[in-house]
Amino acid sequence: MKACPGTCNNAWRLAEAQQATDDTRHDIPVTWGQPVHCPRCTHRAHTQLAELPELIVAIGLEALHGTAPKNTGTIGRVHIPAWPGQAARMMTDHIVGGLLELEDDIRELRSLNARTGHGSEGRNVTAAVRFLTAHLDWALTEHPAAGEIHDRLSANPAAQITTWHRAAQRFTRRDARLEHHRVPCPRCELLTLYRADGDDYIECRNINCQLLLTPGEYHDHTHQLAGEHRMATV
Ligand SMILES: [Zn+2]
Ligand SMILES: [Zn+2]
Repeated sequence: MKACPGTCNNAWRLAEAQQATDDTRHDIPVTWGQPVHCPRCTHRAHTQLAELPELIVAIGLEALHGTAPKNTGTIGRVHIPAWPGQAARMMTDHIVGGLLELEDDIRELRSLNARTGHGSEGRNVTAAVRFLTAHLDWALTEHPAAGEIHDRLSANPAAQITTWHRAAQRFTRRDARLEHHRVPCPRCELLTLYRADGDDYIECRNINCQLLLTPGEYHDHTHQLAGEHRMATV
């Protein structure tokens, strides 16, 4: 029997690594895969996949109803791109692109016909989620990456689904423990700086940036922005 590669075994894996380095014994129970992922991790992958289409729509709505660029008043003289829309587009492209890539990957691995037609984004998402739902049990056991430990960079289909789901949830602020810092990221300039409850750093949630700032760095950055703003308004 093999340990489930999912997050259910995070604590167990840490304790095992600790035991391997300095003989610290632990009594954290392992969750076995059946045969690869455990039933809970399998169930979670199904639920998260099923929730993705609605979350993708919510990301689009965020672009429409998020903070609009201001063109009036003194702030209008400072260059402000349409950050919310841009960030939503990038997040959508990232998730939809990933879903279609995973579908193509599984079609190839299972010697199925290639994906036909390039419909609208909505239609592609619906078709990809339907296909992936039908093939998810296979993907969580037979996919070459099915046994990879879940992390943000893993090709494990279950880990990828979790990463997209989490990113979408955070983007649409359904993660209640997140504090949104409404100042553009110093690197990508999108309004995607967040601090999670209990985190000692501020993180850019733009999937292509993911900059980390300490509170001190964040403070310096806002100070500098305020200075630039004053310069631009004199
Ligand atoms: Zn598990
Ligand atoms: Zn950024």
